[in-house]
Amino acid sequence: MGTSAEAWDLVVVGAGPAGAATAVGALAEHPAMRVLMLDRSDFPRDKSCGDGIAPQALDALATVGAGDVVDDWTPLRDLELSHGEVRVAGPMDRPARVVPRKVFDARLVERAVAAGATLRRHRVTSLTTSPLLVSGDIAASVVVGADGAHSLVRQTLLGRGRDSRALAIRGYAPTTPELRGRQVIRYGDRRQPSYAWAFDRGDGLLNVGYGELLPREGERREPPSRAVLLEQLEVLIPGAASSGSGWRGHHLPLSSWLWRQPDGPVLLAGDAAGLVNPMTGEGIYYAVATGILAGRTAARTVLSGRSDDAGAAHRRDVRRLLAQHLRHTWLAARLARSPLVVDAGIRAAARDRRVFDTLVALGLGDGLIHPRLAGGLLGGLVRR
Ligand SMILES: Cc1cc2nc3c(=O)[nH]c(=O)nc-3n(C[C@H](O)[C@H](O)[C@H](O)COP(=O)(O)OP(=O)(O)OC[C@H]3O[C@@H](n4cnc5c(N)ncnc54)[C@H](O)[C@@H]3O)c2cc1C
Repeated sequence: MGTSAEAWDLVVVGAGPAGAATAVGALAEHPAMRVLMLDRSDFPRDKSCGDGIAPQALDALATVGAGDVVDDWTPLRDLELSHGEVRVAGPMDRPARVVPRKVFDARLVERAVAAGATLRRHRVTSLTTSPLLVSGDIAASVVVGADGAHSLVRQTLLGRGRDSRALAIRGYAPTTPELRGRQVIRYGDRRQPSYAWAFDRGDGLLNVGYGELLPREGERREPPSRAVLLEQLEVLIPGAASSGSGWRGHHLPLSSWLWRQPDGPVLLAGDAAGLVNPMTGEGIYYAVATGILAGRTAARTVLSGRSDDAGAAHRRDVRRLLAQHLRHTWLAARLARSPLVVDAGIRAAARDRRVFDTLVALGLGDGLIHPRLAGGLLGGLVRR
């Protein structure tokens, strides 16, 4: 380490939901911890997203005193899932909220700063592990990589992966009477998962968008252009693309059967950890839940002088929380690559309220494939 290095207990790379939750989690565990959050953007900043905040994300934030962060935004219960003429609609067990990321992320950052974290605008350019240095001269006992889908920390730790990725675009359009108070998801006929959505923010605007699975490396298929994404959105939700603006696209690193976290003092959280629901593209719940776990682990290991144990502890905690759910969503997403299975799932959810609730929990946060859903899928396929 050079003499000019500054030293922190915890350096968090990225101050999106995963990074801010990391800082809040660390400071909830150990209020005197010296925490530095680095982000290349100033806050408030926009982020391409459907803006759907699952109740599970707010439950996780409640464990660190931040469950009320979007209480003033309208709760939404009505959900429609459809594929062509096959459709189910009804109230979800618990409401979600649709909050622009410009608002949600800035409020979480404010909570982290109020708890004692330092926020600095800085683009991280490198990470070395012995000694642990960020951008050459910022020393840390633990580093958490919460730097999103194209994470430099993840690449330094694990190399360039061949994970499955989706590409999605979102914009904002005026709320129409048909879509007021609702979350609508319409599956397309391109490579699954592919769907368009319209989520009412409750303030006169809809978050609208469309996304689909990208070709894997070496696959002979072109990724969809912006024009194709917008065209698909307009086909599935007429009027959404033509009346929308503020278009912004981004990759989604879809989670797989396996989840990797190496030993040592560098932890991964959120999109940087490759945690996006492969059925629905939801990632905010995973980001805040794994951020809080990473922050708490960082605080405990720094306090006990054993920061090298942080990676193993984080791996164990995240697996305990998510491993079974991730395996189930991975399986459900694989099955849902067949339009027949998508239709069977929607029909089963239309027949049986508990299947509907199971599908929502699988897609939003922590659900598992319930025997009734498996039975409904099989029944639907056999009937076909
Ligand atoms: C179109 C679209 C729709 C989506 N819809 C939903 C939805 O409705 N609900 C849902 O739950 N999820 C949704 N997701 C997924 C969700 O957006 C992500 O899972 C979520 O943003 C992950 O949070 P994060 O904190 O891990 O990463 P991010 O929110 O991406 O934050 C990463 C931060 O790191 C910073 N950063 C990156 N590199 C560096 C660097 N080198 N140095 C310093 N800072 C850096 C960035 O500026 C950024 O602020 C959607 C994604 C897309 C693309």
